[in-house]
Amino acid sequence: MTYPLDRLEDRFSTFIIGNTHHRTVQRLPVINPATGLAFSSVPHATPEHLNNAIATAHAAFPIWQAMSWESRQERLENLAERLAQARDELADLLTLEQGKPRHSAAIAEIDYSIAWLRDIAKQRLPDVLLEDSPHHQVRQSYAPLGVVGLIVPWNFPVCLALWKIAPALITGNTAILKPSPHTPLTALRLAELAEGILPPGVLTVLTGDEMLGQWMTDHPGIAKISFTGSTATGRRVMAAASHHLKRLTLELGGNDPAIVLPEADLDTCVPQLFWGAFGNSGQWCVGIKRLYVHDDIYLQLLDALIAYACSVVMGDGMDITSQLGPLQNFEQYAKVRDILDDCTKRGFRIIPCGEIAPRPRGYFVPVTLVDNPPDNSRVVAEEAFGPILPILRYRDFDDVVRRANDTAYGLGASIWGCDMALAHTLAQRLDAGTVWINEVYVHNANIPFGGHKLSGLGVAHGAEGLSSYANLKIRMMAR
Ligand code: NAD
Repeated sequence: MTYPLDRLEDRFSTFIIGNTHHRTVQRLPVINPATGLAFSSVPHATPEHLNNAIATAHAAFPIWQAMSWESRQERLENLAERLAQARDELADLLTLEQGKPRHSAAIAEIDYSIAWLRDIAKQRLPDVLLEDSPHHQVRQSYAPLGVVGLIVPWNFPVCLALWKIAPALITGNTAILKPSPHTPLTALRLAELAEGILPPGVLTVLTGDEMLGQWMTDHPGIAKISFTGSTATGRRVMAAASHHLKRLTLELGGNDPAIVLPEADLDTCVPQLFWGAFGNSGQWCVGIKRLYVHDDIYLQLLDALIAYACSVVMGDGMDITSQLGPLQNFEQYAKVRDILDDCTKRGFRIIPCGEIAPRPRGYFVPVTLVDNPPDNSRVVAEEAFGPILPILRYRDFDDVVRRANDTAYGLGASIWGCDMALAHTLAQRLDAGTVWINEVYVHNANIPFGGHKLSGLGVAHGAEGLSSYANLKIRMMAR
């Protein structure tokens, strides 16, 4: 460990706007979810800080926009290199503030995000010649929007920040990032690491609670909001953004179904189903949240899943034996407990699995399976966003498609089995932005990702995601 983890309060006493470090009177505590205790605090931005940051970002915009795409690419690649050098300290901070096991913080989030930044830095939005006749030429090109606001949640704070920073900056925008108040440290460290690589004002990280988010969505100086978070907040963001007709990308909640076909190979798919549902302690937007299993293999799969789940250790992410961590914050913990209480009250068979190392405090909920609760129960109908999974029996394929689609969400879905013709037929009928077959939550910088229905608006990644950070511009010329 190379980072002075005992002096975090001093280390994160300021945020940077332009070249200036700012302290604030009001500060936000940062809580370690494994203990429930505050271990640091960060500045709380005021409206004046936001105005200042937006003015600085506007001043930086013409310079950044005028740079060649290759120069911006080089800076983003240099940033990726610097993040790679700081990988271990970023992973330590991530585990402390988010709770996830240190091993997966390093590999599944920090390394992954750095690779993603490098991939996006290589992307281009080339002009398209729409018409080129002897009499007329029409060219389509893209122009950056200006200053964009990036608002992210706490489940993958580094990954989701870089999923937005990379496309926003490579397309020539300047950006203001607001991390979740629950996970501000990695974002502030990211801003420090960007100093000297990105010109001042190109990327500003401001820490604050939901009020800062509201000021950003309402501010006339921000051209676009790219938001990832809950559907409830997404609605508020959309309403506020309407005042100035801001461009919007909304990546929102989900209640993803997984359908296991009767001839699925359980040895292969049970571990994948487990991690698909319980990775990051279930705090995954595209995690499996409803598991539909064919009658023929229901009991066999349930037994195999219980056996697998019982082998997994949950504990403090800093403990190397931990494979799963706590829930990230008290509100999330209370919500998941409430859904579990509802299951108990309604007499469902709930199966707690796995081991939790004994601890005095912390937001721990054991991995829990719920055996075939009714479709209208809270554990099926709501996005729990925690380590609790309803296993649901089905017999008829039309019926399972209807039940899988019977939700206001439409983020992801997955199908597990060997009959590829059947899997593809069902996949076509599922109302979700991404349907995986025999895999789940695989993303790629070149593949668009977005939700149907209440799961979002617009897409991230791929050419579509990149172009969402630009205004389309048509040039026509008579010859
Ligand atoms: P949240 O909506 O409470 O908060 C997200 C961010 O919005 C935070 O930074 C928060 O401070 C800010 N915020 C809160 N109120 C605001 C307002 N009125 N205006 C502007 N910003 C505001 O979400 P959360 O609890 O942090 O995250 C969990 C949710 O995120 C889950 O529903 C999950 O499914 C969703 N999520 C979706 C994706 C996706 O890609 N679709 C990815 C990750 C998480």
